[in-house]
Amino acid sequence: MSAELAFNRSVDVDYGVAEEVAPGIRRIVANNPGPYTFLGTNTYLVGSGHVAVIDPGPADEAHLAAIAKATRGERVRHILITHSHHDHCDGAKPLQAKLGGDIVAYGPTGTPRGADAPGLGDAFVDAAFAPDVAVRDSDTVKSRGFALDVLHMPGHAPDHLCFALVGQRTVFTGDHVMGWNTTVIAPPEGNMADFLASLERLMTRRDKMFLPGHGGRIQTPQRVVRAYITHRKWREQTILACLDEGVCTIPRIVAKLYGALDADLKEAAALSVLAHLEHLIDRDMAAAEGADDRFSAFYVRSASSSS
Ligand SMILES: [Zn+2]
Repeated sequence: MSAELAFNRSVDVDYGVAEEVAPGIRRIVANNPGPYTFLGTNTYLVGSGHVAVIDPGPADEAHLAAIAKATRGERVRHILITHSHHDHCDGAKPLQAKLGGDIVAYGPTGTPRGADAPGLGDAFVDAAFAPDVAVRDSDTVKSRGFALDVLHMPGHAPDHLCFALVGQRTVFTGDHVMGWNTTVIAPPEGNMADFLASLERLMTRRDKMFLPGHGGRIQTPQRVVRAYITHRKWREQTILACLDEGVCTIPRIVAKLYGALDADLKEAAALSVLAHLEHLIDRDMAAAEGADDRFSAFYVRSASSSS
């Protein structure tokens, strides 16, 4: 199995400029580039006259002004949020104050998030985020001239939604499937079993384009989803191989699999390894020993899984 995923990482971006990426769909990239956001968060404007904004992005004045400029003379009816991470949802309230529209999202999930939860926590999660309209899987958000089917796709975040543009075989995938990198699965916010199940669900669809929260259009959706799944299976195998070799703590597994990383990315890598270990433990393929703290535990293969 191959480890590397091929992404188009061309770096042409005009911040603040609305670009038509498909008929009736405009994209504005927010100027918040970073190790998790690539060139920045993609904000999509769907429809014309009556517009849905998908992921207003960060609460960045210039970005919100760009959305206002692009929709001048139009009516923003919906502000849809793929998931309540700061880089996607912080702009929702200030945009609503400017342009109106209902904020539509999954809403609270009951999963520990943000400050109460270890891991990347508050740095990413707006645990207090609450939409005006809470939607569920297979709901439809209707506007004039278009409709968006709601797909609940937990994994990266428990509240993660994708939105399928009805009749267009086009899905706004948020951070579930991205155009530039694999998705970070960081427990407790992220859940590997959910993530893989959500990917399998995308495989059953016949979409022809994904428009992700970061990075460019994905015009071979099924191929990318299959590559995501293959990548995770490969990563799981490399972790099992570590356990077989006695490389059995998270810091040592990270050092072996990822080499030298910045402190931030090292934390994300550690959480990703933890996500895989949790998934292995759930299936009785591995066990944690020796500590209550999951970061200082020793991990071993379960007897039943050893070959
Ligand atoms: Zn994001």
